[in-house]
Parts: sequence; C-alpha cells; structure tokens
Amino acid sequence: KLGNETIKQELGRASWKLLHTMLARFPEKPTLDEREALKSYLYLFGRLYPCGECATHFRLLLQKYPPQTSSRDAASQWGCVVHNAVNERLRKPMFDCGTIADKYHCGCAEEDEKKRK
Ligand code: FAD
Repeated sequence: KLGNETIKQELGRASWKLLHTMLARFPEKPTLDEREALKSYLYLFGRLYPCGECATHFRLLLQKYPPQTSSRDAASQWGCVVHNAVNERLRKPMFDCGTIADKYHCGCAEEDEKKRK
C-alpha cells in the first residue's frame, strides 16, 4: 500500500490520463481480438494497480460495471462512469461524460487532427 497521499494522487492522475486516452483511441469498430485485449487489460489493471486500496475498489467496480468494449464510444463512456464512481467515493466533483470526446488526445498528431475535423 502506498502510504503517501501525494504519491497516490499523482499515480491516480497519471493512470486516469492513460486509461481515458487509451479508451479515446480505442477502435470505433474493434475486432473481437481488440475487444478481448481491452477487457484483459482492464482486469489485469485491477489486479496489478500499485495502490492496494484503489485496486480492491476498482475490482468491485469491474463487477458492478463490466467493461464495455463494443466501440470507442462505449469504452470511453464506461471509463467515465467508473471514474465518476471513484470521484463519488472520494467526494470529488462529477465529470460530465457528454464532453469526454473533446478532452482526451493522444499527442499523435494525425490522429488528433482527424478527430478535430
Ligand atoms: P483525478 O480523479 O485524478 O482526475 C484527473 C482529471 O481527470 C480531473 O482533473 C478531470 O479533468 C478528469 N476527470 C475527472 N473525472 C473524470 C471522469 N469521470 N471521466 C473522465 N475524466 C475525468 N484514490 C484514493 O484515495 N482511494 C481510492 O480508492 C482510489 N481508487 C482509485 C482507483 C483507480 C482505478 C485509479 C486510477 C485511481 C484511484 N484513486 C484513488 C486516485 C484518485 O482517483 C485520484 O486520481 C486522485 O485522488 C487525484 O485526484 P484529482 O482530483 O487530481 O483528479
């Protein structure tokens, strides 16, 4: 367990950023293999996330909200809902999931360019 609140928060911010960006870049029409890969990633994330308390809670969220992998939109919305469930538990403000498509860019110029069009 990471005792230090600052480290836990930095880890959380970095992890959410990676997770939401990955979901924002997930294929719009994923293959079965890509869907399986995302699902595995999320369950392994829940096993290996290096803050024990967070990982335990995340595994409960995976039971309550099974990962949605049918499309980029479904996956991104799922990520937003799960992050909001953590926000609620930590008494942080809710995020408006309607705006999520505008927020996460990958830094890969062509992809972001396509997205803005
Ligand atoms: P963060 O929650 O880190 O969010 C970063 C930014 O993401 C926000 O500023 C906002 O711009 C955006 N954002 C906010 N909500 C959403 C959303 N719903 N969808 C998309 N974008 C959004 N900490 C604990 O103390 N206890 C825990 O049990 C715990 N569990 C966690 C489980 C997981 C899987 C992860 C990744 C982190 C967990 N954390 C936990 C860390 C916690 O969620 C925060 O990351 C940390 O407290 C820092 O919070 P923050 O206010 O900087 O914003």
